[in-house]
Amino acid sequence: MLNFEELEKGFSEAEAVAEAKRCLKCKNPACVSGCPIENRIPEIAQAIVDGDYRQAIDILNEKSNLAVICARVCPHNEQCEGACVLNRKGEGIKISKLERFLADREMELTLDRIKAKVAVIGSGPAGLSVAAILAKEGYRVTVFEAHAVPGGVLRYGIPEYRLPKEMVSRQIEIVRGLGVRIETGVVIGEDLTIDQLFAMGYRAIFIGTGTGLSKKLGVEGEDLAGAMQAIYFLETVNLVMEGSLPETHLPIDKDDRVVVIGAGNVAVDAGRTALRLGAGSVTVMDIVTEKERRSSEKEYREALEEGVEFLFQASISRIHGQQRVTGVTLQSFAPRQVGGRDGVILPLPGSEREMPCDKVIVAIGQKPFARIVSTTTGINTNDKGYVITEQEPRYGMTTREGVFAAGDVVHEPQTVILAMREGRKVAEAMSAFLQKG
Ligand code: SF4
Repeated sequence: MLNFEELEKGFSEAEAVAEAKRCLKCKNPACVSGCPIENRIPEIAQAIVDGDYRQAIDILNEKSNLAVICARVCPHNEQCEGACVLNRKGEGIKISKLERFLADREMELTLDRIKAKVAVIGSGPAGLSVAAILAKEGYRVTVFEAHAVPGGVLRYGIPEYRLPKEMVSRQIEIVRGLGVRIETGVVIGEDLTIDQLFAMGYRAIFIGTGTGLSKKLGVEGEDLAGAMQAIYFLETVNLVMEGSLPETHLPIDKDDRVVVIGAGNVAVDAGRTALRLGAGSVTVMDIVTEKERRSSEKEYREALEEGVEFLFQASISRIHGQQRVTGVTLQSFAPRQVGGRDGVILPLPGSEREMPCDKVIVAIGQKPFARIVSTTTGINTNDKGYVITEQEPRYGMTTREGVFAAGDVVHEPQTVILAMREGRKVAEAMSAFLQKG
């Protein structure tokens, strides 16, 4: 029987640590000068002693990208090992075996990752961040996107003048270049369920679907033609701009008098977009004071400069019209004391007055669609419909093992950068979950 078994056995963890401890961590290490690629051997040894194998592997990988092979076939005795000062006592450090210990360990972890399939639902900022980070770590990531073109809120929520869609497309190409597959036109919760994704072999699933369901004002006339939700309005304009819808679908006509309810960033985006579509006037109103508004200072100032008018401590109690919007009933609001509670914002009696207008855009907030959680057992939401998730160390894990979530689907809508920050934390937790296996 032929025996081609590898001759030399590698170090166990205890042996590797004991060997690394023997290294003197010389100030002018002869081993480094003896190594053709000048591997930082004393620092690698110190990281092994510290138990920080990640750091040790990172230092090793700075200079070497075939460490598993180098550890076995390099003539170490003529290079680093041969140069080690401890050879004078006949006790040179077994650098090749330390390198092999680290490289073999890294290889196993990487192979585990390459085998693990991860599904990301939604290609907005949180989904793209998670997909990119996990793909860089070697996981096989597939993003499922409901729209025909990926990008989520980056493509359909943020107006072109703030974020050119060409830039979104380029960023997505970079994510694809990392090996991420993006399947568009797939609605999770309708075309495929979370259970089916697990059955297809996905070992972890990330929900980053954001908030697509607009909150309604609940006033008479909200269903008239000309009254619309800001999310629908912004998405329609972006679909026209990318050529997916004809220009006849643009929701604003020239010289329209537009009223926007809500003064957060989405409301300001809607107001500025309406002006760009040729609206004759845009009035954005909110029941809070100017100081309390939720839009960023920059967006607010730019909107003012462009001609958007703001009306604070005001909203509407009715939308008028037969079939189309012809006006609204305005009402003033102020904080009052109710039942011992200060600062309850309520309409001021007798403050109602009429205001003619042609379009009403409602931007008072969004919440997540329920289609994923309603078609999956075990994913709990709070009373507002947001997905409940864990904090560290399993950051972002929902109440269903292996299903994670982050971004606007977990809390009130925030900025893109916060969605990305959360995406990073969740990706780390997902990687740790997958490695536990
Ligand atoms: Fe360690 Fe030998 Fe290199 Fe000195 S020469 S740092 S003892 S491996």
